[in-house]
Amino acid sequence: MEAVTRIGPLTEDDRRLIEKLEKEAGTDINLCYQCGKCSAGCPVSFAMDYTPRQVIRLLQLGLIDEALGAESIWICATCETCSERCPRGVDIASLMDTLRREALRRGKVADKKVALFNKAFLNTVKKYGRSYEAGILLYHNLSTRQFFKDAELGLPMMKRGKASPFPEKIKGRDEMAKIFARALEAGRE
Ligand code: SF4
Ligand code: SF4
Repeated sequence: MEAVTRIGPLTEDDRRLIEKLEKEAGTDINLCYQCGKCSAGCPVSFAMDYTPRQVIRLLQLGLIDEALGAESIWICATCETCSERCPRGVDIASLMDTLRREALRRGKVADKKVALFNKAFLNTVKKYGRSYEAGILLYHNLSTRQFFKDAELGLPMMKRGKASPFPEKIKGRDEMAKIFARALEAGRE
């Protein structure tokens, strides 16, 4: 038998959490009138369990756990097409980003491997100022215990100059460190 989700009135805690998410994302979910323009333009909605429109609807209905546990928030590529297309000015891309951070804070991540990839990517940007593909692959494979995953792609990519075995560092690493420090201060890392 399929699980049934019951929708009831929002508790005070739910209301506070939604307000916090909206504030952090800088957007208002109640502006959304469910036209679906965001989902129609999203390049990865085909792979999502809930389309961007449905993620907003979950929040409007107070189904916060479902939204935080959705795989969609990790599949989102932050391309911002949805935010650009929304006739009501809802910043869905920012909301997706906010939901990812909240899911991490609450240890409520649908796909742990994606969260680990996200962490590996951010760590390399923090350290070198840009992504370091070989380092991300190594960290991700070790932390997910998939030691040889995608290993066959590494050498051809290096031969074609698409990935380097060593990290490349940008000049403005101090500025990058300051950006990460500010994000941490604002609770956005
Ligand atoms: S485009 Fe905007 S108004 Fe339309 S469903 Fe998406 S968020 Fe809602
Ligand atoms: S920002 Fe995310 S949800 Fe929005 S269109 Fe791009 S991939 Fe889809």
